[in-house]
Amino acid sequence: MGGFFGIASWDDCIADLFYGTDYHSHLGTKRGGLAVRQKDGFVRVIHNIENAQFRSKFDPDLDRMHSWAGIGVISDFDDQPLLIRSHLGDYAIVTVGAIKNAAALSEDLFRKRGLHFTEIGAGGINPTELAATLIDQEESFEAGIRNLQDSIEGSCSVLILTEKGLYAGRDKWGRTPIVLGKKAGNFAVTSETCAFPNLGFEVEKYLGPGEILFISPEGCEQKQAPGDKLQICAFLWVYYGYPASSYEGINVEDARNRCGAFLAKHNPVPIDFVAGIPDSGVGHGLGYAAESGVPFKRPFVKYTPTWARSFMPQSQGVRDLVARMKLIPIGDLIKGKKFLFCEDSIVRGTQLQDTIQRLYDCGALEVHMRPACPPLVFGCKFLNFSVSRSEMDLAARRAIREIEGEYPADLTDYTREDTDKYKAMEERIRQRLNLTTLKYQHLEDLVAAIGLPKERLCTYCWDGVEPD
Ligand code: SF4
Repeated sequence: MGGFFGIASWDDCIADLFYGTDYHSHLGTKRGGLAVRQKDGFVRVIHNIENAQFRSKFDPDLDRMHSWAGIGVISDFDDQPLLIRSHLGDYAIVTVGAIKNAAALSEDLFRKRGLHFTEIGAGGINPTELAATLIDQEESFEAGIRNLQDSIEGSCSVLILTEKGLYAGRDKWGRTPIVLGKKAGNFAVTSETCAFPNLGFEVEKYLGPGEILFISPEGCEQKQAPGDKLQICAFLWVYYGYPASSYEGINVEDARNRCGAFLAKHNPVPIDFVAGIPDSGVGHGLGYAAESGVPFKRPFVKYTPTWARSFMPQSQGVRDLVARMKLIPIGDLIKGKKFLFCEDSIVRGTQLQDTIQRLYDCGALEVHMRPACPPLVFGCKFLNFSVSRSEMDLAARRAIREIEGEYPADLTDYTREDTDKYKAMEERIRQRLNLTTLKYQHLEDLVAAIGLPKERLCTYCWDGVEPD
């Protein structure tokens, strides 16, 4: 998915930029980048962070960066920031999101305007370059960001560093967040508010959908008011987000605890303890334990000192290996016990199948599972969540194919937990994972746990519903 951080300050801000960007490392594994505006122009650094942490890669670059303003990004796959020279002036740009109609937009720009793109990678044009090109079609940065917001399908939030300050433009539908923070003599914008507390920033404002701000050391100016329609990704609270972060004023860990509490209210089973698959399942598991009164234990612990993040390495084989090596079972806690795991979600289910088998190999008597969100029936159309997986690989889709023989044109019955088809799908997944019981979160409970009205959340991957 990726995340970004930007800062404008009266003083040298490199340390804050460095740590603020690093606090987005859980959102991507491929590229990290920083750009600053210095007296003699821009300095930009991009590193591959697939096999090393952001800080270890960028630490040697810091001595040659001294600036009052900068932007940083953790990117899923494309090189960022990009440095652009256009009629708007020189600027650096980073983006978060996914432009799903990139091919059609670039074709239009080739044919009608005779433009070309230089940053080719991963089999296509660099989406950040496409965003910059759409911005450059207009006479001001705010008009250009509006053109970007109106032209794309998918989502795109953007930070632009100019010689005067930073523009921050949130995706038109607000699928990804941007939050403004403030401390004496500094303004910062971030995807993740977990970047703020240790740098001394306090949240000043959660930008609304489509809102555009300009920040400089002198202050913050609204360039475009927010729109009415919000469709923030509900998966941020379930899985993507860091526990210490908040979006729309709602903390991730708090929401996960409430998710777990809702799970505990339905389908209780006699168990010795409850657990969470590290890391994101832990907040859900703690909520389940608090509501049910059943003790929380850690039958798996994660060996983080040396293993790289497993968020989304490009190779499935590497993802599976890292996921397996990182989780160490504690046989003494598992043997002869009946327990229940909370998990953020079941995507393909292949890693989970292996994890569950390891529990039985350690002597578990019963393993129950409670995913914190409903079955994923639809691939994400708006972010890069599904970049490395096909919709047809989803555990729910696979179960539907087994039940129906072919895909029905209408999947609605598989998105409503009161239907026989839904129950049959849930049972198929339970059998495949070899679980004692499996009961998914109800969508209305997930929405209640987050605490925003359903119409202000994107829930497409569970119910296939898109706003008008
Ligand atoms: S489809 Fe799912 S993952 Fe994608 S933005 Fe919507 S809720 Fe988030």
